[in-house]
Amino acid sequence: MKISKNFVIQEFVGPAIINALGEKAIQLLDYRIILIAQFIRDYFGRPMTINNWHIGGHFTERGFREPQTHTGAPFSQHKFGRAIDFTLDGLSPEEIRTEILKNQQLFLEKGLTCIEAKTLTWVHIDCRYTGLDKILIVYP
Ligand SMILES: [Zn+2]
Repeated sequence: MKISKNFVIQEFVGPAIINALGEKAIQLLDYRIILIAQFIRDYFGRPMTINNWHIGGHFTERGFREPQTHTGAPFSQHKFGRAIDFTLDGLSPEEIRTEILKNQQLFLEKGLTCIEAKTLTWVHIDCRYTGLDKILIVYP
């Protein structure tokens, strides 16, 4: 099911959830994270990979994560449907983070409130409430 110009629901939830809920899986997501993903896709103008299990890849937990998963932190923003891990074709995670933080007001306005530093092979962003007027940088 298509949920924005460039994304289908499978990119935000894994196969077990699609099997259990079908199109209602979208109800597990904070709508802002879909808007932010589409904004990043448009801003950089490059193909973006979140989950790719539906096209034969092995990523299933880069969007929503089930509460009982052993992936990531116990209270990860992924478990609230507010986070994604992603890559963009042709740019390193560090290049993506640098560009987002350089223009952080623009991304904040779209709802992006937090970014993880230092991850080498992906970029983590989320839309948690921080009460800050800048993007929160967390160190995993
Ligand atoms: Zn993450």
